[in-house]
Amino acid sequence: MKVAELQEKKAAIRRYNAFGQYMKDLYHTAVYKVNVDAGFTCPNRDGTVATGGCIYCNNDSFRPSACTSATSLREQIRKGIPYLRSRYGAEKFIVYFQPYTNTYAAVDVLERLYREALDNPGVIGLAIGTRPDCVDGEKIALLEKLAHDHFILIEYGLQSIFDQTLEFINRGHDYACFKKAIALTANRGIRIGAHLILGFPTETREQMLTMADELSGLPIEFLKIHQLQVVKDTVLADLYAGKPFPTFGYHEYIELLADFLERLSPEIVIQRLFAAAPDPILIAPVWNKTRSEFLRDIGAYLERKQMFQGRKYSAAGAAKERLNGPES
Ligand code: SF4
Repeated sequence: MKVAELQEKKAAIRRYNAFGQYMKDLYHTAVYKVNVDAGFTCPNRDGTVATGGCIYCNNDSFRPSACTSATSLREQIRKGIPYLRSRYGAEKFIVYFQPYTNTYAAVDVLERLYREALDNPGVIGLAIGTRPDCVDGEKIALLEKLAHDHFILIEYGLQSIFDQTLEFINRGHDYACFKKAIALTANRGIRIGAHLILGFPTETREQMLTMADELSGLPIEFLKIHQLQVVKDTVLADLYAGKPFPTFGYHEYIELLADFLERLSPEIVIQRLFAAAPDPILIAPVWNKTRSEFLRDIGAYLERKQMFQGRKYSAAGAAKERLNGPES
């Protein structure tokens, strides 16, 4: 579908390219994620890249409580699928390898785990969360093979295109590393996703918006965005306690997000727009909003302002941004 047609459709029906609807259009039914913890670790924690991890990272903030490596992968899937079938009448599933770095193992180990996940009735594919410095030719070749007859989505944690921020958050890789991983993965039949956090105190609002232009110029099909959250038991929490920095107010974030979506390519599918760490570990910002309240409010804001994803996107602008590269 042409960009203009897409924009027209979005303006008429929905104001951003949402993942749920995208998958429904593709598979003619809703596709549900089964979150699993396959017991991976992370090179940014075990000393291979660094110790201590990213300064905001507390895996409890994004892992559903039912997803734990204490139970086998097969067991997690065999419990998750019947639950989704009975609760939502779900028929099709993606197994989501979520916590830590899910390509951080030898390729034969990865192949066994990925095939074990795919070998379940109703499972149409995988989503694999990982770091851009944890893929290589062999691993990508494996994903390419699996993608011949499955939906295979690799989600690269990026968080920011600015090296200054990546250093501040102790990511252990730079933006060039991310672009290298994208180049290695592109045009292989593998779906590519990226994960971005808005709100680091190292960036201005305009720099955050620039990321929409930059990512629109890369072969990224899916994007997860969320606001920076300060959660307990992290280095960021210690920094925040020592010298509090501003975090987004609820309406301030909605306004930023709407501006971001307008500059983003209309073809990028949005998987996530905000985060909700569990109350007991969340320090700031505290919004007390559920996912459905947030989606209602961003939808209403876009509607009221007549804004939609891609309205200010310009392919030429994205290409220029790509040539200049981000300032760090
Ligand atoms: S956010 Fe991801 S890459 Fe960073 S320390 Fe946590 S698990 Fe590792």
